[in-house]
Amino acid sequence: MSNPTVHPEHRMYIDGQLVEAEDGKTFANINPATEEKIGEVADGSNSDMRRAIDAARHAFDETDWSTNRELRKRCLEQMQEGLEAEREELREQLILEAGCPRMSTYGPQVDWPLEGHIRYPAKLIDEFPWEIEMPDGLGNQGEPNRRRIWKEAIGVVGAIVPWNYPVEVTLGKVAQALATGNTVILKPAPDTPWNATLLGRVVAERTDFPPGVFNVVTSADHLVGEELTISPKVDLISFTGSTVTGKRIMEKGAATLKRVFLELGGKSATIILDDADFDTALLSGLGACYHAGQACALGTRMLVPSDRYEASAATLTSLFENVPYGDPQSPEVIMGPVVSEKQRDRVLGYIEKGKAEGAELATGGGRPTHLPKGWFVEPTLFVNVDNSMTIAREEIFGPVLCLIPYENDDDAVRIANDSQYGLAGNVIGSPDRALAVTRRIRGGMMSINGGAAHGVDMPFGGYKQSGIGRQNGLQGFEQYLETKAVAWPA
Ligand code: NAD
Repeated sequence: MSNPTVHPEHRMYIDGQLVEAEDGKTFANINPATEEKIGEVADGSNSDMRRAIDAARHAFDETDWSTNRELRKRCLEQMQEGLEAEREELREQLILEAGCPRMSTYGPQVDWPLEGHIRYPAKLIDEFPWEIEMPDGLGNQGEPNRRRIWKEAIGVVGAIVPWNYPVEVTLGKVAQALATGNTVILKPAPDTPWNATLLGRVVAERTDFPPGVFNVVTSADHLVGEELTISPKVDLISFTGSTVTGKRIMEKGAATLKRVFLELGGKSATIILDDADFDTALLSGLGACYHAGQACALGTRMLVPSDRYEASAATLTSLFENVPYGDPQSPEVIMGPVVSEKQRDRVLGYIEKGKAEGAELATGGGRPTHLPKGWFVEPTLFVNVDNSMTIAREEIFGPVLCLIPYENDDDAVRIANDSQYGLAGNVIGSPDRALAVTRRIRGGMMSINGGAAHGVDMPFGGYKQSGIGRQNGLQGFEQYLETKAVAWPA
């Protein structure tokens, strides 16, 4: 596996300056496909994080950023242009640090977010109703009052990002938070820091963002991110990652009653109705292998009618045995490695648990022998899965699909909803029936017959323990705003 030449930024971006960590420390960025170090990045400390928080607080409180819409729009347009100029650099760096297949960078990993994630909220700056005129009302002494509702920035936003779709998640958070007039501290995952430091460099060198409005703090230590959740100077945490960390963020943030937006895990079901075209419908099972299963909204449980179960299992087994996977640099693979040794071992641990609890391994289940280096896991299909098994209940975040039989539509709905999660789902069948079943699923993003329920103008997020709030869309934009009711005598 070859590594293309890249020009990464190892410095953080704090208060308008590209900076080393205060104590000069760095940590290694590792390529999950080769297990080799590809470079270093600043290892920020709690003290570095506090400096970034102070800078963001100052920029919010002491500059006109939150009210100067023209400046915000210009800065976001410059960010867009700057990132576009770095598109190929970003692509190569991301493949190296995230192990994401090259193919996926022409879609959700790089090109889709570069298309709309900044432009959409930048456009909303002009179109959003920042002031709502209410009918006149009566004042305290019965006099007529003019009444308005103003929408205003919340303040300082801590944006905490995972490693699976870092560019997409980062731009989804940062551009909306900035467009609405907040100041931001971005904290990327330690596994994928370069895309964030590159964004810091773009902002530093190509834009008019005032110092402190946007900051990037990288660290090998997750608890540096926790500084954001406990600081009274931070007003909102926008987090994407595991449900466990999401709960901890909520708990830590409660002391200062922080606003929290949490986009967490999922265990979404794909329901294939008995009137579906099975040859096409079963292909969607391969989605569980896309980016080695490291996406929160994937259909990782597939529900098929019991009388079609054996035939479906046979077709899926053959599909899983032919998944193109391996070197993420290769243009035809849909699946590279998982992000780290820890994650690989976690996925293999779930596979062992599946076997121990009585599920049957149809194919996969181990480390591929033809790929001795890199944190790869074979595309894995479990059959004879009961929805009560751990592999059907917990988010594995690896290339593992659970095939579960059902008796009728009611049973399919019951199984799909029998989950602590409620992020997404797919229903495949005749349109009317699929629509009716979809209405009964408690999930935030539902695809019917392959429809794409996501996009920069569509709210992304889940029911139940899949999170609180929505990323993207108008619903996401408004999350970064406070509401002020105002009245004065006419
Ligand atoms: P994580 O939730 O631990 O980390 C995500 C981000 O949160 C990282 O930037 C991390 O540094 C930061 N973080 C961790 N602890 C923190 C704390 N106490 N305070 C503030 N920030 C903190 O996720 P992970 O370890 O990267 O992955 C573990 C599991 O999370 C995965 O196996 C998967 O199930 C899930 N996951 C879900 C998503 C998603 O999109 N829903 C994304 C990535 C991972």
